[in-house]
Amino acid sequence: MTSIDSAGLKRMFDEIAAAIDADKDRLCQLDGVIGDADHGIAMALGFGAVREALAQLDLAATGPTALLNTAAKSFLNAGASSGPLYATAFMRAAAAVKGKAILEDADIIAMLRAMAQGIQDRGKAELGEKTMVDAWLPAAQAAGAAQEAGKTLLESLETALAAAERGAEATKDMIAAKGRSSRLGERSLGHMDPGAASAVTIIKAIRDSLA
Ligand code: ADP
Ligand code: MG
Repeated sequence: MTSIDSAGLKRMFDEIAAAIDADKDRLCQLDGVIGDADHGIAMALGFGAVREALAQLDLAATGPTALLNTAAKSFLNAGASSGPLYATAFMRAAAAVKGKAILEDADIIAMLRAMAQGIQDRGKAELGEKTMVDAWLPAAQAAGAAQEAGKTLLESLETALAAAERGAEATKDMIAAKGRSSRLGERSLGHMDPGAASAVTIIKAIRDSLA
């Protein structure tokens, strides 16, 4: 059983911010092919803002719910399509662990599922529309199924990561139907969706921070 408190959650966000920073150029390149080449920048700004905001918190006096709501507010200021999507994800994660000081395996999986659901509710994208939902939704479902089958947190996160990677890879065969790249229609075929690619990076960093 893994359990994390606010300090552990902050470490998770720090790990995500570092991973996104390291991946920034690739994400911009992917977005350059089917969008406007700013996805790496937008994500780095978003998680950079989160990192700064969390560094200001008194972690001894801030529970996971307040921390996640702070992350949501900070990310929102980052602009681009991903701003409101991840802000909603973190707000839903906050609601999923409301009132808890310590998060255990089931809470962490519930947080992931709430994030995926929040992204879907906010952006109204369905599976197969070539968005980050194509990585987040299968990842959350796989994590939930693994958890229910009695797997450890780390095993569940491995399964989630593999599902996200498959989902991101599968976006190459999809025609964009949501967001900026939908203007390209069939010309979006053959290219990975940048939002699905960054979702993989985030899920990997979550796994790494809990390993
Ligand atoms: P922008 O399109 O404003 O430049 P970004 O480049 O930061 O924003 O993000 C682009 C990514 O946002 C896409 O690759 C896609 O994964 C995701 N996206 C766009 N619209 C939606 C939506 N309605 N639902 C889910 N994800 C979306
Ligand atoms: Mg863009």
